Amino acid sequence: MSLLVVGSVAFDAIETPFGKIDRIVGGSGTYISLTSSFFTSNVKLCAVVGEDFPQAQIEEFEQKRIDTDGLQIKAGEKSFFWSGKYHNDMNSRDTLVTELNVLGSFDPVIPESYQNCKYLMLGNLSPQVQQLVIQRLDRRPKLIMMDTMNFWMDTAMDELEQIIGQVDILSINDEEARQLSGEYSLVKAARKILGMGPQYLIIKKGEHGALLFDQHEVFFAPALPLEEVFDPTGAGDTFAGGFIGFLAKTGDLSFENMKRAIIYGSAMASFCVEKFGPERLSTLTEDEIESRVQQFIDLVQFEITY
Ligand code: AMP
Repeated sequence: MSLLVVGSVAFDAIETPFGKIDRIVGGSGTYISLTSSFFTSNVKLCAVVGEDFPQAQIEEFEQKRIDTDGLQIKAGEKSFFWSGKYHNDMNSRDTLVTELNVLGSFDPVIPESYQNCKYLMLGNLSPQVQQLVIQRLDRRPKLIMMDTMNFWMDTAMDELEQIIGQVDILSINDEEARQLSGEYSLVKAARKILGMGPQYLIIKKGEHGALLFDQHEVFFAPALPLEEVFDPTGAGDTFAGGFIGFLAKTGDLSFENMKRAIIYGSAMASFCVEKFGPERLSTLTEDEIESRVQQFIDLVQFEITY
């Protein structure tokens, strides 16, 4: 089913203990749309780039059947640029540079062919833009999921809280859940955040897996123990793309199916971290995805007999 993805499409500079790259395509919209395209052939990307953005990447989106009618290219302007450096544990990082460039004045355009999308994924982006997208849709999608980060909590908390109140699923990491709720315990944090409006909350814990909460239940999935994590950039967005892509493919919004979606999201994220930026997603095959999902099943399956 149709999935509208809004997010940053960007250049990143990344430094990890294993290497450094000065310029690679990144952005929440890039990771989410590439990942969800493995699950549904009806992904529609809404984003903005400058004229410095490579045509080859736009062609890759199109080869993966991602609709780019809503991708604006601003002549004479520069794409969003983000730079980050990972600590030795690879689970935490410092943002070194955030240059909004074209994102600073992003006025999202929703082409007619994007209207009536059943699923909406609001990737990490300013809450004002996330709000504009919802306002510009003729009809509310069946499911709205959003991701955000501490940058927006520090700079636009009021607008962020307003949009959180309108979505069905919020996905954030553990530090962000603590910042948003003011609670250290993730269980207490989840209760508070669910009180802000969303029906479901996903808390990502990097190499320690992910938690899914609703008002009554909680589900936990580990991250796959990998021998080597090369670059975690985009893992959270890739997780979100796998999660919502799986829901859009199956159309089943039960808590049971969301558990499966968490496993698919985690499997996709485990590929993303194997190479710099979204490189690994470009070569990934469906067979590899299925065998990694099986690895997850084997990892957590056990029986107790008395
Ligand atoms: P993740 O590692 O999943 O948190 O995502 C990293 C991606 O988020 C990078 O490719 C960045 O380009 C993008 N990003 C970082 N900061 C922002 C921001 N303030 N707004 C939108 N996208 C961002």
